[in-house]
Amino acid sequence: MHKKHNFGAGPCILPSSVMEQAAQAVINWGGMGLSILEVSHRSPEFEDVVLKTQLLVRELLSVPDHYSVLFLQGGASTQFAMVPMNFLSKGKKAAYLDTGYFAQKAIKEAKLFGEVALVASSKDKDYAYIPVDFNNDKQAAYLHCTSNNTIEGTEIFDFSTAGAPLICDMSSDIFSRKINITDFDLIYAGAQKNMGPAGMTLVIAKNEFLDQAKKEIPSMLDYRVFRDNMSMYNTPPVFSIYVAMLNLLWLKDQGGVNGIEQKNIEKAKLLYTEIDRNPLFYGTADVGHRSRMNVTFLAINKEVETGFLKFAADQGIVGIKGYRTVGGFRASLYNALPLSSVEVLVSAMASFEKIYS
Ligand code: PMP
Repeated sequence: MHKKHNFGAGPCILPSSVMEQAAQAVINWGGMGLSILEVSHRSPEFEDVVLKTQLLVRELLSVPDHYSVLFLQGGASTQFAMVPMNFLSKGKKAAYLDTGYFAQKAIKEAKLFGEVALVASSKDKDYAYIPVDFNNDKQAAYLHCTSNNTIEGTEIFDFSTAGAPLICDMSSDIFSRKINITDFDLIYAGAQKNMGPAGMTLVIAKNEFLDQAKKEIPSMLDYRVFRDNMSMYNTPPVFSIYVAMLNLLWLKDQGGVNGIEQKNIEKAKLLYTEIDRNPLFYGTADVGHRSRMNVTFLAINKEVETGFLKFAADQGIVGIKGYRTVGGFRASLYNALPLSSVEVLVSAMASFEKIYS
């Protein structure tokens, strides 16, 4: 079904079997004679979808019972404000790890609600690495980090840090690898990479932590309201949740998060090996902090950059142009991208080397 090799950073490739089922449900959902787009979110059929999707999240990520699984709206960007709105007060401070563009956006919003303590930043090297040596101050309301830096192509692999409660933006690597939920007090992620289409935001949070939230919060921005209403305080993003359910069922069929992690490791290794071998390209992230989801690399000169973009496009490779702050290339290797697409990219890089030299 997919004619192009889609390396886009998000919204991104989803499995073609999921697209087909979603398309069918838009026409006639489960033989009901109704489209998924026109059923009530209060119908037992849709309530069942929400429940199943929550159970799939719990199963795939081994979420313990004392954590809630919530489906919100407003994207990860709303979480940048919602986190401090719930957990940071004037006169208190929250700790932030500055690892790139999205971490900066989270910091900007937090400053509206209280004091922000920057525990560490990798800005000195254009965010090419993840700072590891920092003090996680117990006195802070929480420590916020970004597990995968979608633009800069770096990823955190070790979350063991004792101190303040840990909050993590996992928008671009959730469901791509095994994580230990109990390392975190709250995780959030926009759905539009490995979970499903844009429109919903996943939150996984420790109940005890949610109970410490401030009291005076507008309902739509209060995690507890979503917890107490099965994520249906208002009309939820019905189609996004439905497609996420289909996508998580697909993930289960792939051997779950453990199974997909092995495939993701293989895909990333193949591409990084070619970047390191090919004299026309070089990686931007420090080797030990390279992301498996967003592979960022540069060309040795502008001519190679524009030439390769065109050469790749002619072979059906799309979405590899790097973000403007980093430049060059960014190949996103999300769960649904097959190894065969990475093979096509790697072989295009090798062919271009022959043509160019
Ligand atoms: N955080 C990260 C790590 C992201 O990759 C993105 C979007 N790509 C965002 C936050 C913002 O997400 P949204 O567009 O859903 O608000």
